[in-house]
Amino acid sequence: MAYVIVDTCTKDKLCIEACPVDCIHPKEDEPKFEEAPQLFIQPEECIDCGACVPVCPTNSIYVLDELPANLTQFAEKNAVYYA
Ligand code: SF4
Ligand code: SF4
Repeated sequence: MAYVIVDTCTKDKLCIEACPVDCIHPKEDEPKFEEAPQLFIQPEECIDCGACVPVCPTNSIYVLDELPANLTQFAEKNAVYYA
């Protein structure tokens, strides 16, 4: 499955600190950080632990199955970032 970040993300990096498998990017020291509109979860590395969800102040992280209908495109947007 994998968790998905949507465009209300403010890039405050709190989820990066909470993720035990380091699958949220770009990080601040990566070249694409400034230009990225939001952060993205690498779907093949995410272990579905849910640790990122409660730390997100903007409620921008969803488990794939619970993405609201108007946000389903973000599953692909997260994956495409890593393509
Ligand atoms: S915690 Fe939420 S707002 Fe902050 S970077 Fe992660 S997804 Fe974006
Ligand atoms: S669910 Fe767990 S593994 Fe997946 S992005 Fe969030 S903290 Fe990382």
